[in-house]
Amino acid sequence: MKHLIKNGRVIDPSQRIDARLNVLIENGKILCLTGDTPSAEITTDADGLVVSPGFIDLHAHEDPLIGGIRYSDPERANLACLLRMGVTTCLAGNCGDNFGDPVLFLDEIQRDGCFVNVAMLAGYTWFREKISKADRYTSVSEAEIKEIGKTITAALDEGCVGISFGLEYVPGINREELLSSVQCCSGRGKMIAAHIRACAEKAPSAAAEVMEAAKAAEVPVQISHIGSMAAYGQMEQLLRLVDRYRADGVNVCCDCYPYAAFSTAIGSAPYDDLNAMHCSYKDIELCEGVYRGQRCTKEIFEAERKAHPDYLTVGHVMNEEEIRLAYRHPNVTVGSDCFLSRGNGHPRAAGAFPRFLGRVASESGLSLYEALFRITTLPAQRLGLTEKGNLRRGADADLVLFDPDQIIDCATFSEPTRPPKGIKEVIIAGKPAVLDGTIVNGRLGRPLRKNNLTS
Ligand SMILES: [Zn+2]
Repeated sequence: MKHLIKNGRVIDPSQRIDARLNVLIENGKILCLTGDTPSAEITTDADGLVVSPGFIDLHAHEDPLIGGIRYSDPERANLACLLRMGVTTCLAGNCGDNFGDPVLFLDEIQRDGCFVNVAMLAGYTWFREKISKADRYTSVSEAEIKEIGKTITAALDEGCVGISFGLEYVPGINREELLSSVQCCSGRGKMIAAHIRACAEKAPSAAAEVMEAAKAAEVPVQISHIGSMAAYGQMEQLLRLVDRYRADGVNVCCDCYPYAAFSTAIGSAPYDDLNAMHCSYKDIELCEGVYRGQRCTKEIFEAERKAHPDYLTVGHVMNEEEIRLAYRHPNVTVGSDCFLSRGNGHPRAAGAFPRFLGRVASESGLSLYEALFRITTLPAQRLGLTEKGNLRRGADADLVLFDPDQIIDCATFSEPTRPPKGIKEVIIAGKPAVLDGTIVNGRLGRPLRKNNLTS
């Protein structure tokens, strides 16, 4: 069955196309882009809309299993929020975190489908905790490093695209452990992604640590959510360092979410030293519990950190201008860092991409075309996906139809899962997944195993 999307402004930066064209889809694939009007069983009029490849989110977190159920509240699930904002493919398992075995999660998606297509990182912290009794602050033995490496290598061979690290969360990972684990990716076509060891003043040297490790192992590296790491006065220095390593042959890119506030659990290691994060108690908003929506005092912070270490918080402390500075760099993509707990948390999960397209990209001096390059072509290249992130003949028919004048985020710190405006339709594998903001099919996503990829 053929489906024609006509009269839209088709933007596909991978082919340098920005033109009024019709898109013909058949059997889940792009058949052609054409100025003609071929006959088709289904026709969608996209007059006034941009038709682009589905967005690719390189910094996602999968939803946890709670009581054996993955999506007990599908309206407020991380990956459902991604889909409603036009993301059709994500890279989950970031920051060292997995919620269960990442390979089993890929198997689950193979069986049940998912809101979006998912590639997985093997979360180093999850594997470390599986093998070793060492806590987050303690180093592991040499034998344990070997054993973790063996287990992670098996997950890579089963299709994970690389390893993620949450070095700031697990200070016990020393240099030897880091170098040894990054080596697992070497020669296998895998990548690393790193939430680096420290933010603010220490961010540049922390970024250098992972770029050095990537250089030694000759693997690509993604530096995670650089806004929350360096938008405290160090962004320019960090980006210059990225340029230096790129010039030196290291394949490094960064992701950033378009907000001047970070989010983490109140019990997590970064909060061990508030001063180092340029953070005072009143900058920290609680996202859960009786103090939801309130800023902290010293007393509330200390009591909640002890009683509910897993409660999410938001820290309103970064410099907005440095977020725009990050996006001006050609190797920075958008990563949502979607991380909701029972639907609570940071609005980036449901707002990052429309906020970028509707406001922050232009404020950063990017054209719509360049903005779409950053969230389609660039992340597809990072993942080695040749059939996604573009509208070439034979590519997967994952598309977004949006109104460029209307698109904007609606999620707020008090209502973090509110769907955005301006996204008319999201299509995965040729089938409608979202119509007018409502998910009509949440099972179209497939697992993307690296050993199945075409490149
Ligand atoms: Zn992180």
